[in-house]
Parts: sequence; structure tokens; C-alpha cells
Amino acid sequence: MTKVHYLTARCPQGCEAWLHPLAVEPHLLDPKRCRRRPWVDEIPDMALVGAPLAHDFAEVLPPDLLGRPSFSGDRVVHPGPEDYIPIHLHQGVMVRSPVPGVPAQRWAVVTSAAARERGASAIEVAMTPGGFAELENQLTAEARLTRCPTCGDTTTVKGLRTHQARNRACRWRVAAADVRARWAGGWRDPYSVDGAPLKWGDITATAHWRKRAHVVRFPAWSAVLVRAGGLT
Ligand SMILES: [Zn+2]
Ligand SMILES: [Zn+2]
Repeated sequence: MTKVHYLTARCPQGCEAWLHPLAVEPHLLDPKRCRRRPWVDEIPDMALVGAPLAHDFAEVLPPDLLGRPSFSGDRVVHPGPEDYIPIHLHQGVMVRSPVPGVPAQRWAVVTSAAARERGASAIEVAMTPGGFAELENQLTAEARLTRCPTCGDTTTVKGLRTHQARNRACRWRVAAADVRARWAGGWRDPYSVDGAPLKWGDITATAHWRKRAHVVRFPAWSAVLVRAGGLT
């Protein structure tokens, strides 16, 4: 808890943004900024397949199941340590799932693992529900695939740690779940607690508040919660 944190207020409308208290009202008035629900619930159901497999996917999938990856300009021009985008992803394709009921991310992870092992013909096999189920069952039985215990996404066993460290939606979901659990237990942002310090330095200055503070790290910001009732 040595790093300095800015104390922010939690959006009261459930989008899980944390903002400077003066920014809350403009945030609420602009439907583009506050969608009233977590952004992770609105991610388009597409998955990124990196090169060189991307080329094989593009040959097999019909055009309506394919897209070009886009990375926000800022992440490309000024990448932070966690925003580094490897070249094989720049040269990748976005894919939708051809199998009803199977999310794109799961379809792409299973099919990529199968194609790496058995060649590009596995992509055609995975186009049908039966073929996909067989590949998924085989790879799962061979302990190649797993589910991320925190967000439920399918990943390769080897890729789980990278997924948890790099995947923005996964990290965001973990942080939001921590906030919700603490909120249910009486923790609040400092602006919602009478008498709570409004500067990080004042929180760390006394053992009383240090013990009642908790930092939740979202990918792009940190949220500081304090335990309500801390004055008693
Ligand atoms: Zn909001
Ligand atoms: Zn995850």
C-alpha cells in the first residue's frame, strides 16, 4: 500500500466505473459514458486469432464470420507495460463462432489448439457442432484445455497465466467482483462514508484507517474502498 492512490467515487448506476466525485454527474448524464451496465457485458462475441493461424481461419470461414482486429490507437502508439501488442496479433483476424451456442472465444481457443496440433483441416472439422464437440472433448481429455476459474473463459492450460495477467476483461471482472463482494459487506468509496479521509496520505497516516482501507486494481485505475462504520 505504498503507492499513492487517488480516491474516487463509485458510479451509482452499476457500470462499475470509479471517478473523481466531480466527474460523476457528467458521467451519468452522458449515455455514452455511463451505459448503466458493465462494459464486459456488451463485448461483441468475437475472438482474436493471431498469425500464422489467422491465415488458415480466413480461408475456411465465410466472410460474415470474419473481421479485422482493431486496437485503440493509443495502445499502439503509447503502449503501457500491459498494452504491448505482439506482432502476431496485429496480423490476426477476428472470428465469430460458426457453432450455435458456443461463444467465439471458446470456439477459437479450441479450434486453434486443434489446428496447431493436427493442421488446418481441423478448422473445417470444427465448423459443425458435432465436429467441434469432438475436438473439444478430445483436447479436454488430454488436459490441453481448461476454464479460467475467475472469468470462465476457455483457455489452453499453458495459456491460463497469460490470460489472467493480460486479458483486460478477465482482470476487470475480477476487480468488479471484488468491489461487489466488499460493497455487500459494508465497504464503500470514501466519499460515501461520513468522516472518511479523502486523501490517500490521510488514509495511510493512521493505523485506524489503514486497517479499514482496501485497494482494488482495475486494468486502468485503482479503486480505494473503506469499511463503513469505521468511526465506531
Ligand atoms: Zn456509470
Ligand atoms: Zn479469466
